[in-house]
Amino acid sequence: MALVTLQTIFQDAFPAYEQRHALPAHVRRAAHAIMQCRTAALGGHVQACPDGHMSRIWYNSCRHRSCPQCAYLQTERWLSTRTYIFAHFF
Ligand SMILES: [Zn+2]
Repeated sequence: MALVTLQTIFQDAFPAYEQRHALPAHVRRAAHAIMQCRTAALGGHVQACPDGHMSRIWYNSCRHRSCPQCAYLQTERWLSTRTYIFAHFF
């Protein structure tokens, strides 16, 4: 069974939803960024062992603020900083 993520839900359902509804441009941009994040659509690079034992393809991130894959780390860093500030200065 494949992993269900927000990206797979958007990839499955958004094209049909987009056809039936008039959506603002910023919503379309966010949805397309989420659908293309870390896929071949955004390009990538190959990380390989110099001896040729292993290689792996890393696809580029969309870096959109609404993307859960991209925004998660930024959110955690922001929350950690704010937690530190409140714990030490208030
Ligand atoms: Zn992303």
